[in-house]
Amino acid sequence: MRILIAEDEPVSRQLLQNSLLEWGYEVVAARDGQEALTILEQADRPSLAVLDWMMPGADGPEICRWLRSCENDSYVYVILLTARNQEGDLVRGLESGADDYMVKPFNPEELKYRLRIGQRIIEQEQKILRLASTDDLTGLLTRRAFMERMESEMHRMRRENGMMGIIIGDIDFFKTVNDTYGHLVGDLVLQHFAQCLQENCRTYDYVGRYGGEEFIIGVPGAGLLETTEIAERIRNMVQNTSIPLPGRDEVIKITASFGVDAVNLRNGNEYMAEELINHADEALYLAKARGRNCSIIYSRADMQ
Ligand SMILES: [Mg+2]
Repeated sequence: MRILIAEDEPVSRQLLQNSLLEWGYEVVAARDGQEALTILEQADRPSLAVLDWMMPGADGPEICRWLRSCENDSYVYVILLTARNQEGDLVRGLESGADDYMVKPFNPEELKYRLRIGQRIIEQEQKILRLASTDDLTGLLTRRAFMERMESEMHRMRRENGMMGIIIGDIDFFKTVNDTYGHLVGDLVLQHFAQCLQENCRTYDYVGRYGGEEFIIGVPGAGLLETTEIAERIRNMVQNTSIPLPGRDEVIKITASFGVDAVNLRNGNEYMAEELINHADEALYLAKARGRNCSIIYSRADMQ
């Protein structure tokens, strides 16, 4: 686990860093409050922080207050370090949003165990988040988790002047599968389809279950051509796969229809994730209307 140490005093910082490394943590060190804030603004920021109270740039409590004001970000567990030891200071430190507080000079062993508490809390939080963002049946992202990911990827692509592709896929005649074989087999088919999506997109694409038998793939950095190629690869794989029925000498074959769109986010194009998804959804509707088992690209000319 990574830990941020923010301490302006070089000797203390080095001692702290040595101890944390010895205890098996990965350390990111900041020399003042400003550096600490810069590190905490990054998307992959550490989840544990040991912050000195008195630092130039921004002090420990200021950093805590800032952290607690960012509601939607992942939790950072904060231990404040300070030479102060008056009761009022303790209250002020905790009021700012710190989780724990240690007075310098402190016993390193004590810090070690207090960090363990923080680590346990962070790990629990991550576990809960993982469970909440995963669809039980397929192991894919839930719709909400997908949307969150999509928003942040669009944001990133806008910054990088990149493209963003989207694929919505829907199993054809899924209701017939359920009606003929029952819901357990229906679930099995959904799992197979989900696996097929995941195995036939690129490692950095992300797949979500959008609703019932409708699935969605975010394809960052890809234009229409590449996104359509991925959709077609999946579609072919789906139609060529036989799903064995458990306990029976029988297989099920399915097909799926796909709607595709992509957008160029160059020059601060304010295109929204929802818009892109609506387009792919419209294209999917057309794929169903045109006989299913095909991929249709959203066309700005046809569909407006
Ligand atoms: Mg200091």
